Amino acid sequence: MTSKVDFYHHSLGPLHAEAMAGVLGGRFLTMGPKCREFEGLFAEFLGCRFVRTVQSGTTGLFLAVKACGIGAGDEVIVPAMTFIATANVVLHAGADVTFCDCDPHTGNIAIDQIERLITPRTRAIMPVHLYGQMVDMAAILAIANRHGLKVIEDSAHCVEGTRDGTRPGQSSDAAVFSFYATKNITCGEGGAIATNDPELAAQIDLLRSHGMNRIAMDRFESYQHWDMVALGYKANLTDLQAALLIPQLAEIAPQLQRRNAIARYYEDRFTQAGIGFPIVEPGVISARHLFTIWVPPQHRDTILSTLQARGIGVTVNYRAVHCLKFYRSYLGERCPRLPHAERIGDTTISLPLYPGLTDEEIDLVVDTVIDIVRSLAYHGS
Ligand SMILES: *Cc1c(COP(=O)(O)O)cnc(C)c1O
Repeated sequence: MTSKVDFYHHSLGPLHAEAMAGVLGGRFLTMGPKCREFEGLFAEFLGCRFVRTVQSGTTGLFLAVKACGIGAGDEVIVPAMTFIATANVVLHAGADVTFCDCDPHTGNIAIDQIERLITPRTRAIMPVHLYGQMVDMAAILAIANRHGLKVIEDSAHCVEGTRDGTRPGQSSDAAVFSFYATKNITCGEGGAIATNDPELAAQIDLLRSHGMNRIAMDRFESYQHWDMVALGYKANLTDLQAALLIPQLAEIAPQLQRRNAIARYYEDRFTQAGIGFPIVEPGVISARHLFTIWVPPQHRDTILSTLQARGIGVTVNYRAVHCLKFYRSYLGERCPRLPHAERIGDTTISLPLYPGLTDEEIDLVVDTVIDIVRSLAYHGS
């Protein structure tokens, strides 16, 4: 049946269409002034020196791994509770993935488990700011500094979040954002890399455009020879997409406020009903990208399908990555037991969380969830 409440609906409208139409009236459809403008504005928002836009969050993670010089023979520590992209890019770069368990209360990487996973081959840690809650970067950086490791933040869920006043991209080697269709700010497909390191930014410039030392905009007024100085990729964003993103920067604060109000309402109601969910720790302003509940594992899939049958859009973020078929065979006998990631993977259900939800829709989501969970508990397992 069609949903009464969609899992996600973007908030783009006439303002964004107009911004995109403006690009059609100009000279550059891609890698032009709109990409530069967005990069400057986003860097300012994040409080970090450089932003480089790319095709997707996945591409951004991959280029960040490459720009850190990570490749064959290296290992990268990745949380098992994340989207597959975080792990996949490490393998694409030719390195190996070491999965880390997660914190049972937040779902974020278990910081106290990281050090025992470090080997002489470990080159980097890739924390993920799961659901929008920033990982304790000071603790991650202390470990990284002790062992000479790079840190790349997967910030796909965390455009708006802070911890103790710091934002993604301010303290690590790089933070990577996604502007995929369901993300908090979106242009359908897109991503960005934020860094304070001018060399890493220059490396990304090369890697995202074939390793060419001049891009088309530099050559527009008069042709100049370019050289190919590295083996790069074709991975840039377009100006059409950047134009869609620019007006969304001004909408970040009111939209976060609305998502936060919805998330708090969910938290109150589910607390009263005895339904668990990840907590937001003190000192954190969550970007509130996703709201997930934790239900009994033996009922999770029934609750999921019943919610859908009753018109509530839901999804699962995420089943633990090391348990997926490809990674089970990749890991073979090395496949670890990561009990917290596995538990969350078997119990989690993501609910609708976006600014366009009405109060009636939010109540319908909560009432339906509680009704289904109660009737399953009543009838036993
Ligand atoms: C969405 C997402 C990505 C990938 O971003 P794309 O833009 O879809 O490539 C990576 N990591 C996490 C945690 C994500 O949610």
